[in-house]
Amino acid sequence: MRVIEDPHGFRFCPRCGGPLERRLLKSTEPERPVCARCGFIYYIDPKIAVGTIIAIDEGLVLVRRAIEPGYGKWVFPGGYVDRGEPLTSAAIREAREECGLEIRLDALVNVYSYAGRAPVIVVYAATAVGGTLTIDEESLESAAFARDALPWDDLAFRSTHEGLRNYLDGLRHPVHEANANATTKTRRHEEE
Ligand SMILES: [Zn+2]
Repeated sequence: MRVIEDPHGFRFCPRCGGPLERRLLKSTEPERPVCARCGFIYYIDPKIAVGTIIAIDEGLVLVRRAIEPGYGKWVFPGGYVDRGEPLTSAAIREAREECGLEIRLDALVNVYSYAGRAPVIVVYAATAVGGTLTIDEESLESAAFARDALPWDDLAFRSTHEGLRNYLDGLRHPVHEANANATTKTRRHEEE
């Protein structure tokens, strides 16, 4: 099976406002939303997210979500990557915004995707090198859990569970260093 499409509610063309209709453009592909007025093909792309498993003295950092989905559940800091933003920059930014920590990325743990689900989650292993553990408006609390005392029954997502399991099993891949120091803004509008 080629694609299991994530459900979406888009009804109008983002380019001209005309009505979208589903059309089979290639027999080997799923139907695509196509604008009946201007012909714009609306490819519903995956959404890229980063998550970072951060080691600090007391253990691993998790935050408890104050937003849906997964309200009240624990997850490692992370969020969606902006278009044009290197993954590593997003991981560092999210850690700073979400839990107040400056981090050093140590490794890529793995990449997680699931049938019928829009997010693709890239999970890094990191070490806290500065800052103070805090929260932002998207979290109820933050805490460092000992590796043998993680809240397995209260994790927000399947990728949280699998990422932590892989991390504890020692799964590590090198970080793509060429991206590590790239600035977020310079190319943001050049590829539109
Ligand atoms: Zn259109």
